[in-house]
Amino acid sequence: MKKSIAYAAYEPNKPLTPFKFERRDVGENDVQIEILYCGVCHTDIHQARNEWGSSVYPMVPGHEIVGRVTQVGGAVNGFKVGDLAGVGCMVDSCGHCPDCQEHLEQFCDACVYTYNSPDKHNGQSTYGGYSDSVVVDQRFVLHVSEKLDLAAVAPLLCAGITTYSPLRHWNIKKGDHVGVVGLGGLGHMAVKIAHAMGAHVVLFTTSPDKAADAKRLGADEVVISKNADEMAKVAGSLDFILNTVAAPHNLDQYMALLKRDGTMCLVGVPDSPHPSPNIANLIFKRRKLAGSLIGGIKETQEMLDFCAEHSITSDIELIPIQKINEAYDRMLKSDVKYRFVIDMKSLKA
Ligand code: NAP
Ligand code: ZN
Repeated sequence: MKKSIAYAAYEPNKPLTPFKFERRDVGENDVQIEILYCGVCHTDIHQARNEWGSSVYPMVPGHEIVGRVTQVGGAVNGFKVGDLAGVGCMVDSCGHCPDCQEHLEQFCDACVYTYNSPDKHNGQSTYGGYSDSVVVDQRFVLHVSEKLDLAAVAPLLCAGITTYSPLRHWNIKKGDHVGVVGLGGLGHMAVKIAHAMGAHVVLFTTSPDKAADAKRLGADEVVISKNADEMAKVAGSLDFILNTVAAPHNLDQYMALLKRDGTMCLVGVPDSPHPSPNIANLIFKRRKLAGSLIGGIKETQEMLDFCAEHSITSDIELIPIQKINEAYDRMLKSDVKYRFVIDMKSLKA
């Protein structure tokens, strides 16, 4: 067992504080990684504060992990000591159900999430990336390019794949008109990736101060969603909308922006339901309202390779772990451009 240091949530309404625990021994198929950087996803806040009602404490959040391999098991063939490696939202699945066979482990009923998930190795909960090391089955470890800024790669492991996967699934291609709702961690990755896929990107934001920046990131148009006149100008014009908003809001104002047969895909998971959508918005233009969950491991590697090829990383603000509680409060005010990433060296400070 390896002693590990981390930051953990102990209760929903208390700040995260230091925590010590042990990682399991490196098994035959395991890769041990020294964590160098971990991104801060809005899911970490939902979970640390028990907003989804399923939190187990103490909880070590973090599922945007990058680092260096420090040890490998005897049966590991894809990684060696010294390699860069990434771990995203999942660390295990059954491996044989139809979802796993189709490389869609995120939909497997036995999917084990990187934190706050039952850990079959010790009967406790999995502990995530706000820590100095992690031990993960090689099937769930990703290869990371040496070419890119490693800290800025970390958010690709969740924000990157969660936006890449639906854009691929709905076959976004050159010339498609794609709306992205919310310019946070997920939203800014959606803008960059959709732009790289050749789409005409329309960004919807509640934050007027982000408008100019959105164009720098790859948006062709920016619409302030609180402005009804601006919204009306793009009615019926979009093939696809990726909605990343983390709070309940009126979905109808976006459904009305889709063309006939268009789809809005939700990836945000608010702590309470959205107001019910107006069915007429679906029926009269045969529109679809859909959802998407992260992406499979094979597709995550494809996304990392796509991002390396297109030099896409996240725009980040690097913080020491001691600032994590402040970072959560700032994220809730949409005050980050666009992802906090924890420099794990700070754990030893
Ligand atoms: P984030 O960085 O906090 O960004 C969310 C953005 O939503 C904000 O920047 C803001 O953008 C907009 N927003 C916030 N409150 C709003 C409100 N009341 N009305 C309208 N817009 C609002 O969060 P994130 O890390 O991108 O995560 C977004 C959501 O996706 C979270 O619920 C998270 O749990 C979920 N998630 C889902 C998956 C999945 O697999 N489906 C994976 C990862 C995360 P503007 O300032 O531009 O308006
Ligand atoms: Zn996430």
